[in-house]
Amino acid sequence: MSTSWQPHRRALVLFSGGQDSTTCLAWALARYGYVETIGFDYGQRHRVELDCRTTLRLRLAAQRDDWALRLGDDHLLSVDVLGQLGASAMTDDIAIATQADGLPNTFVPGRNLLFFTLAAALAYRRGLDVLVGGMSQTDYSGYPDCRDNTLKALQVALSLGIDRPLTLETPLMWLNKADTWELAQQLGGPALVELVRTETHTCYLNQRDTLHTWGYGCGTCPACVLRAQGHRQWCA
Ligand code: ZN
Repeated sequence: MSTSWQPHRRALVLFSGGQDSTTCLAWALARYGYVETIGFDYGQRHRVELDCRTTLRLRLAAQRDDWALRLGDDHLLSVDVLGQLGASAMTDDIAIATQADGLPNTFVPGRNLLFFTLAAALAYRRGLDVLVGGMSQTDYSGYPDCRDNTLKALQVALSLGIDRPLTLETPLMWLNKADTWELAQQLGGPALVELVRTETHTCYLNQRDTLHTWGYGCGTCPACVLRAQGHRQWCA
């Protein structure tokens, strides 16, 4: 993966406040001349994630002067419509389980397609030409809208749809969770790893009572299990 410095490009990072999108934000700040962030409130159960965003942006900017200079505005969009489309363990108080089609019921159909479409609309308004998302095909939960081909097709559709070349970058696409911890280490050293560990939120069940070696969370939901496994693997 190239980390070449592209001072003239202006990026918009899909930034939820989780481990993956925080690492992507650091990646974008190290790579592009100007970076804005966008988040989505869709009534997700792990809303505590959204509360982490402001702190994370401030603390990231405090880590390096050049990152502070490049970090631009934040945008939080309400997309209640996702909750209206039907029950998911991500938005409703139902147990996390596997559906008949093999996908976990945390899958919100079309979510990433919608997020990137809204991000493209905002990028058009703000004069931004790169969209950055933390999707991964390696460690992913089977969500079809995290796949590389889905996002490559979407890049073409969005660029045609707004008649401007947009690049969709997914720096974590071929990384596992251990690699993602390593990427944070490479981008910002121990200070960034510690920020990711203590200030990002991943737990589907919203728990932030106990600080584990890998961060806060219940330790048993699928998101916590993935995060903890990756951290153990990275430390080994
Ligand atoms: Zn959890």
